Amino acid sequence: MPQQLDPLPDDWERALAVVAHPDDLEYGCAAAVAAWTDAGREVTYLMVTRGEAGIDTLDPARAARVREREQRDSAAVVGVTAVEFLDHPDGVVEYGTALRRDIAAAIRRHRPELLITLNPEDTWGGTYWNTPDHRAVGRAVLDAAGDAGNRWIFPDTEAKPWNGVRWVAVAGSDAPTHAVDVTGTLERGVQSLTRHRAYIEALTGEDPETYARNLLEGFARETAERFADRLAVPFRLYPR
Ligand SMILES: [Zn+2]
Repeated sequence: MPQQLDPLPDDWERALAVVAHPDDLEYGCAAAVAAWTDAGREVTYLMVTRGEAGIDTLDPARAARVREREQRDSAAVVGVTAVEFLDHPDGVVEYGTALRRDIAAAIRRHRPELLITLNPEDTWGGTYWNTPDHRAVGRAVLDAAGDAGNRWIFPDTEAKPWNGVRWVAVAGSDAPTHAVDVTGTLERGVQSLTRHRAYIEALTGEDPETYARNLLEGFARETAERFADRLAVPFRLYPR
């Protein structure tokens, strides 16, 4: 029997989700976000890029506009109205102090207890090579959790240091430790991913909603085997 997952802590008020691209949160996480916003918690999205290099048939300037709109629609489905963009260049995001500083500045502005990001490891499950943007952003988020609290690091940000991040939750990890029950919110997760219609239509010939449902129900069922048969979204939790 695989190792069981613990429930993700829920004694917090504010979360900030920081990912590289529009759609990164919708491939699993959004159903958990819906559960949190339903419970009255505040969740803000910060996209490092606009995903402008993500659609082969659309030039980047148009793709950026389409993907921003799709991301705002997706977020609204799960109760998130604050969606910000850092405008780093899609596909060639560089890990470094510029990225850490931008993320630390956002953490200081929003003062979250929980940070959420996507798998920063080299691979997905040891099989598929991860993208450079995901690796760069995930690592920078884990690092910026500490940077944000140190007044001697990036001392010139507008907002004051915030040392209140208690956990960083990594979605899409090969080695999850915790999970969030999404029995009541999986459908909104499906609807949230379906909002990335232009992106999904360029990716697959399948109907976007069918594609989203099959994928997300499959993930949630897999996680249920490690979470008392409850449909769930897994995270690797790094406490601070
Ligand atoms: Zn991505």
